Amino acid sequence: MAISLDPTTSAERTERLPNTDELTQLLRLLTAERVEALQKREQEKQRTDENRQAELEAVLQAEAIRKAAQDACNHMQDEGRATTPAIGGQVFSDGMVHGFCLRCHKSFKPFPASEEHRTNGVRFIRVPLE
Ligand SMILES: [Zn+2]
Repeated sequence: MAISLDPTTSAERTERLPNTDELTQLLRLLTAERVEALQKREQEKQRTDENRQAELEAVLQAEAIRKAAQDACNHMQDEGRATTPAIGGQVFSDGMVHGFCLRCHKSFKPFPASEEHRTNGVRFIRVPLE
């Protein structure tokens, strides 16, 4: 839609004001552009919201899978050594032993390290309760 509101000479500009039809056309054009811009912005926002929701659902699903795997794990070594925990542990700089299952990566509640732990390392002989 071509609307000419700008006559070529200043004389014409002062003599001729846009008529009602031209103003109506201009308003329709501006309104349509504004509506289109708002619709585009709304669509982008909706896409962003949908992407965020999908990411959140993926994270929650991964967390649920991880938790189910940890709940199903007995935290013991396989291959006929079922009496040995599959838990590694290390004394951290906080002075606590941090243990985690080597099979399912569950972290267990840290506990204070003894001198034996600091000197010879950590070896779990049973699965911690928490
Ligand atoms: Zn485990």
